[in-house]
Amino acid sequence: MTQATLAQIGSALRQHHRFAVLSHVRPDGDALGSQLALTLSLQLLGKEVTVWNEDGLLEKYDFLPGGARLTQPPPEPQDFDVAVALDTATQNRLGLAGEAVRHAKTWINIDHHHSNPGYGDLVYIDPNSPATGQILFELIQDQQLPIDPAIAENLFVAISTDTGSFQYPNTTARTFEIGADLVRGGVDVGRVSRLLYENYPRRRTELLRELLGTMRFEARGQIASFSLSREVAGKLGIRPEDNEGLIDHLRAIRGVIVAVFFEELADGKVRVSMRSKNEAIDVSAICQKFGGGGHKLAAGARVRGTLTEVEERLLQAICEVIDCSDQRPPG
Ligand code: AMP
Ligand code: MN
Ligand code: MN
Repeated sequence: MTQATLAQIGSALRQHHRFAVLSHVRPDGDALGSQLALTLSLQLLGKEVTVWNEDGLLEKYDFLPGGARLTQPPPEPQDFDVAVALDTATQNRLGLAGEAVRHAKTWINIDHHHSNPGYGDLVYIDPNSPATGQILFELIQDQQLPIDPAIAENLFVAISTDTGSFQYPNTTARTFEIGADLVRGGVDVGRVSRLLYENYPRRRTELLRELLGTMRFEARGQIASFSLSREVAGKLGIRPEDNEGLIDHLRAIRGVIVAVFFEELADGKVRVSMRSKNEAIDVSAICQKFGGGGHKLAAGARVRGTLTEVEERLLQAICEVIDCSDQRPPG
């Protein structure tokens, strides 16, 4: 796989006409913000753009400019000149959206997951970038693609959500420079942050109460986890997006190095979310052993088995890299 340049991607975007802009299942702010930012920019270039996500536009993100354009893919594939996959570590994480564009002539893959194998014809992966939205900003600036306040707001949401509001270690001086440019470009930080972080449905906090009831610690407090059964999710009427960010309550505990969230899914699998606070503990390597992936400090997987089985297997795998014995080693 050879990495494309921003210039090659820029010229492909200018040259072709019919685009599909996609991102991963269970989308987060980076996925949806990136999709809508690129869609709006291509639209200003006069392109025909379709924007699909298997899960559609989540209620939580329905304030995003252009959001009404984002829909769920149809069952039958359609023809496109170019399919653009954003923020999606493996092609099958596009889910049904990937199926619906399988006849696209050219595939562009823009992402920041180091586990991304580089599928597609034009591949631009920057694992040092904290968000796909940051790469898109660089592309737009470098290639002088259209940007307006609506695009800026989508990029700001993408970057803010993937950096934990400009807090995680992947946040660099460049990230703040881009943040400043986006604010100058029309983003109302107070308003966007209120919509993102102070506008949750009550059931999300009720979910947190349930999760804290299942909280457990291993390795003398270095591993913290909690889990969500389908029964509790059903009782509270939980939507998939409700649990985004709840794992941060575990990560925030002093002494915790690895935080894990287990969620029982309908298909006999368990969704695993993992976070690390220590560069030496690479949770994406642990998740890759179970068919998942992600970043060193934030990763995930979907693992077949019951909640209890998957919890035990994953915790054991973490104990291979963190000493889980009860006693501190002497000395
Ligand atoms: P999450 O815990 O769902 O917020 O995901 C954390 C990171 O891991 C994100 O960057 C995801 O793209 C990645 N990730 C989550 N689940 C998977 C999976 N099943 N396969 C590959 N990467 C994943
Ligand atoms: Mn994402
Ligand atoms: Mn991302």
